[in-house]
Amino acid sequence: MTAAARPSRYSTKKRVLVTGGAGFIGSHLCARLLEAGSQVLCVDNFFTGTRGNVAPLLGHPDFELMRHDITLPLFVEVDEIYNLACPASPVHYQFDPVQTTKTSVVGAVNMLGLAKRLKVPILQASTSEVYGDPAVHPQTEDYWGNVNPIGPRSCYDEGKRCAETLFFDYRRQHGLAIKVIRIFNTYGPHMHPNDGRVVSNFIVQALKGEDITIYGDGTQTRSFCYVDDLVRGMMAMMATPDDVAGPINLGNPGEFSMLELAEAVIALTGAQSQLKFLPLPQDDPRQRQPDITRAREQLGWDVSVQLRDGLVKTIAYFRELLG
Ligand code: NAD
Ligand code: UDP
Ligand code: UDP
Repeated sequence: MTAAARPSRYSTKKRVLVTGGAGFIGSHLCARLLEAGSQVLCVDNFFTGTRGNVAPLLGHPDFELMRHDITLPLFVEVDEIYNLACPASPVHYQFDPVQTTKTSVVGAVNMLGLAKRLKVPILQASTSEVYGDPAVHPQTEDYWGNVNPIGPRSCYDEGKRCAETLFFDYRRQHGLAIKVIRIFNTYGPHMHPNDGRVVSNFIVQALKGEDITIYGDGTQTRSFCYVDDLVRGMMAMMATPDDVAGPINLGNPGEFSMLELAEAVIALTGAQSQLKFLPLPQDDPRQRQPDITRAREQLGWDVSVQLRDGLVKTIAYFRELLG
């Protein structure tokens, strides 16, 4: 029988489910998985993601887009699951905080139930926010964190922490092959222009010639990872043997203050923008930098894109988006 005549269920291609696949990171992951020869089922409720992010993939014969909310059960047949569904920027996850916690917790139960029935590996997109406002610097995976359980960021931070608990209990109790990664601030094309995150805010403000909004005095730090580096790390994690469960930090250890970031964006856009200082949001972490020793050792992964180069690509994306 020729390949073309073969019913699709006999395809030898790996079938990969990406929840939150129409979002910023998910859309890049879907594209890379297709390039690697997998079939991709992208599931998204379009809360923050858009069809536009996956528009170039829609005509691909191995790509399927399904509108679905993962807080509801999902019965599909796949060989691997990447669970990314969850709003990630503070303005979006605080818009409907109860739904944010439900997505992380109830959504995790459903996706773990799916993985358990299918006996397939499942990767959780966890976050550096599990470390909260860290008392240890840089953050290693064995640090338990410093998180406010009842503040405005808690729906996200505690939701993600509970999801990690569920993942490790499904592993202990049901023998699931789980892969937990903790993603540090990531940026790149397909970020939502109004998501309030610092990289998109600064670039959009600079391109519009508006003031750059610095919260607090701008000396707080973050470490910014370009999305292509992150997606490579995610796929390397999924490819590890079943006994590699994580958690593993994925991020760029280069640490910058918000003032330094603003200066870089102004220089690279050639904008005339001035700095405008606004109050620091509640529970805003002072400092954040990943220790990626474990990722280097267990995944053979490292970052390759410098902040300046990643910003150039991201600025080009926003320039086109804003017309
Ligand atoms: P994003 O908001 O662009 O993507 C999240 C996607 O999930 C969106 O497409 C959204 O519509 C979808 N979604 C939300 N709730 C859903 C639900 N209940 N059912 C189905 N789909 C749902 O954010 P992102 O930056 O691409 O983040 C992706 C994942 O990575 C998230 O889990 C986030 O917590 C994690 N993460 C991101 C960062 C970062 O810097 N971007 C850092 C740490 C962790
Ligand atoms: N689930 C799902 N898809 C599946 C299998 C399970 O969405 O293919 C959901 C199911 O609705 C359940 C959850 O996953 O609520 C957890 O499943 P599990 O088997 O762990 O628990 P149980 O069904 O025993 O409560
Ligand atoms: N921030 C800022 N100006 C902005 C948006 C954010 O100074 O317009 C600061 C914010 O207070 C935080 C840092 O930038 O200290 C990173 O914020 P973001 O929301 O991107 O990520 P997170 O706080 O979740 O790491």
